[in-house]
Amino acid sequence: MHKQIAAANWKMNLTLQQGLALVDNLVNQPHILADNQQVVFGVPFPFLQAVKRNINGKQNYFISAQNCHFQKSGAYTGEVSAEMLKSIGVDYVIIGHSERREYFNENHQMLSEKINLCLQNDLKPIFCCGEPLSVREAQTQNEHVETQLRESLFHLSEEQITDIVIAYEPIWAIGTGKTASSAQAQEMHLHIRNIMAHKFSNGVADSLSILYGGSVKAANAKEIFGQKDVDGGLVGGSSLNADEFTIIIKALK
Ligand code: PEP
Repeated sequence: MHKQIAAANWKMNLTLQQGLALVDNLVNQPHILADNQQVVFGVPFPFLQAVKRNINGKQNYFISAQNCHFQKSGAYTGEVSAEMLKSIGVDYVIIGHSERREYFNENHQMLSEKINLCLQNDLKPIFCCGEPLSVREAQTQNEHVETQLRESLFHLSEEQITDIVIAYEPIWAIGTGKTASSAQAQEMHLHIRNIMAHKFSNGVADSLSILYGGSVKAANAKEIFGQKDVDGGLVGGSSLNADEFTIIIKALK
C-alpha cells in the first residue's frame, strides 16, 4: 500500500519556540504511527535542524523544507540550495506550492529544475499542483493539472518518479475554509493516478502517494482521507494547532 502522509506546511508562521513546543506535543502523543504512515513537518528554513533534533529517534516522522532554489549554487543572495538542505539532513522539499507559483513567479521550467536538484541530492519532492477557481468554474481543471504534471515531471525516469509525492491542492480551497468535496478530491486524485499510469506504468501509479491539500481540518480529514486515491494531506492552517493536527494524523488510513 502506498504511504499515507500527514504533511504540515507551516508557511511563514510561528517562532522557533512555538514551533518546537508544537512538535514536542505531537511526537509525544500516545498514538503510534503504522508502518505505512508518515508525519512530515514542512517548516521554515531556520527551524529545520532544531525540528530534526526534536523528532530524532521517532519512527516515521520527517522534516521538509518549503522550497529550494532552481540553481545548484552561486550568486543568489538569500536563496537555499537542495545540496544545502541535504547537508543538514532534510528528507522532503515542497516544490511548486501555489503561493510560490503566484507570488514568486515560479514556472514549470523552474519547478522541473528544482525537482531534478532534489532528486540528485536524495531529497523527496512533494510536488504541488492544482487549479485556480476560474479554471474550476470553466471545468478545465483536469487539463490544467495534467499540464502541470507534464511540464515538471514527465522528463523523469520510472525510477525517479517513485521518489515523488504529489499534492493536489485546488487553489480556491487553500486557506479559504472552502474544501473540495471528497468526491471532487477522489475524482482528481484518480485522474492524476491515471495520467501517471499512462505516462509511466500501472506499478508507478499504484505506488505514488497523492495527498490532498486545501482547508483540511480535524472535522473533514477522515472523510477526505477515506477516499480510495487520497493518501493523506498537505495541511496549512490546521497543522499549527496540536489538537487539530493530531486528529488529522489519526485520520490517516
Ligand atoms: C497549504 O498551504 O498547502 C494548504 C493546504 O493550506 P490550508 O490547509 O491552510 O488550506
